[in-house]
Amino acid sequence: MSILVIGSVAFDSIETPFGKVDEVLGGSATYFSTAASFFTDVNLVAVVGEDFPDEHRQMLVDRGIDLAGLKTAPGKTFRWKGRYGFDLNEAHTLDTQLNVFETFKPEIPVRYKDSEYVFLANIDPELQLDVLNQVEKPKLIACDTMNFWIEGKRDALLNTLKHVDVLVINEGEVRQLAEEPNLRKAAQVILSMGPKSLVVKRGEYGVIMFSEHSIFATPAYPLEEVFDPTGAGDTFAGGFIGYLASTRNLTEANIRKAVVFGSVMASFTVESFSLDRLKQLDYDEIKARFKEMKLLSDFEPIV
Ligand code: AMP
Repeated sequence: MSILVIGSVAFDSIETPFGKVDEVLGGSATYFSTAASFFTDVNLVAVVGEDFPDEHRQMLVDRGIDLAGLKTAPGKTFRWKGRYGFDLNEAHTLDTQLNVFETFKPEIPVRYKDSEYVFLANIDPELQLDVLNQVEKPKLIACDTMNFWIEGKRDALLNTLKHVDVLVINEGEVRQLAEEPNLRKAAQVILSMGPKSLVVKRGEYGVIMFSEHSIFATPAYPLEEVFDPTGAGDTFAGGFIGYLASTRNLTEANIRKAVVFGSVMASFTVESFSLDRLKQLDYDEIKARFKEMKLLSDFEPIV
């Protein structure tokens, strides 16, 4: 079952305590689709500028990602510049250049319209809504966003959230969006905005998912070395939604498994810059880490 994703395709310039790269392939939709492509077909909606090289396009095509919805517009590709200190859980944005996204009007290819799974990756919430208005009746709509849009386009974001089933954001964004410091209370506020579930990404501390009647938490895979956390959140979402779409099963038990697949995928992305690690990954490595994750938090009930 295929997934439709709208989000950014970007050139990222990143500095971490362990290295520095300039204008490497990044973007929320790029990480998402690459991760999801390990599980199912992905239809990508985004825009790039004339400076976007064929080599990046080819990498996505080789992973089976449908690029009919990737428009090339006059101008420059979206650019993001970020820095991380030793606390790798927090990205400091140094610069965001929307470029071709400023005037982008998404037009969904006809064959994308009946997509049953839709992921609104981190991008202008007005574009997210625009895409939702063009799809027929998805089974599941999930969404990500970030402080840039929570501060800059709050009303548009609240409008988009009314249509969203699962919101996937990081801990700081939960507090900021809900205007509430306590995570559990903040989750209640967000669940009243529209989403039925809230998945909170907590960097090296894992993920906690709040739904109306349940809370589920899982640790992050304990890596010895984290090199660059950029894209971890989008990769998480790609594994999470990719697994759900491939199994077409939205029971609580399966959603929990999907959260673990998301965490496993993210653990690979952070091992190197850009999509370098995902490009070399195979499904056996994913399965092996999934098994380790089960052991990591398995314990006996009390009698
Ligand atoms: P994350 O998974 O949260 O680390 O997302 C990192 C990716 O988000 C980077 O590859 C950036 O290109 C992209 N990004 C950063 N800021 C924005 C923004 N305001 N809108 C869309 N994408 C962004």
